[in-house]
Amino acid sequence: MIAVGGMNYDKAMKAGVELPIRCYPLQAMVTQPLKPWLHTLVSSVSLHTNLVQSSRGEIVIGGGSDPYQLYSTRSTLDMKEHLAEGAVHLIPFLHGVRLLRQWAGTTDMTADYSPIMGASPLSNLWLDCGWGTWGFKATPVADKYMAQTIANQKVAPILEPFTMERFATFDLLNEMGATAASH
Ligand SMILES: Cc1cc2nc3c(=O)[nH]c(=O)nc-3n(C[C@H](O)[C@H](O)[C@H](O)COP(=O)(O)OP(=O)(O)OC[C@H]3O[C@@H](n4cnc5c(N)ncnc54)[C@H](O)[C@@H]3O)c2cc1C
Repeated sequence: MIAVGGMNYDKAMKAGVELPIRCYPLQAMVTQPLKPWLHTLVSSVSLHTNLVQSSRGEIVIGGGSDPYQLYSTRSTLDMKEHLAEGAVHLIPFLHGVRLLRQWAGTTDMTADYSPIMGASPLSNLWLDCGWGTWGFKATPVADKYMAQTIANQKVAPILEPFTMERFATFDLLNEMGATAASH
């Protein structure tokens, strides 16, 4: 099974399978730790900013992907300013809080923002790719049905719509809302 996140496209190419995936950086940053006060996720689609407080007290601030394909995991000043502006707009008392760090990861995006799960064009090579910007919330259920698929050598019925073929047949699964901040 190919399930290597931002490296999915490259790894599949090594097997001769070209995935309909393009990779974009996604950045996030955290503030210094604060006492617990934010008990929900705050997200604004118009500001492309979301905030959540980690168990360490840091405010984790995220937003949309960078607008260009790239494998670099460098973070940018542009995005720092954009996320800081969005965060202070949503929660003004954050204006004096310091940032601790900012980072980027590689997200493997499909055209409909949904993953590709199930069979590949090669027999016995399975795909769990294209999770892009919202994969960790889906991990438990994805693992369960991919394990079932491999054990039975048959794509689990719930995964059938996630076939790679949907890009050829235009049976797309639009999931833009699942990213919380539109891209
Ligand atoms: C800044 C940022 C913020 C995010 N925020 C959220 C969020 O709030 N909520 C959410 O649901 N998702 C979020 N995501 C997206 C989430 O991280 C991904 O969708 C998810 O991690 C994808 O899971 P995966 O198992 O497909 O890939 P990964 O989690 O990337 O796992 C792939 C694994 O494969 C390994 N690997 C790579 N190459 C090889 C190889 N050749 N051989 C063996 N192993 C290899 C890697 O080391 C890695 O451990 C965020 C991503 C970023 C970058």
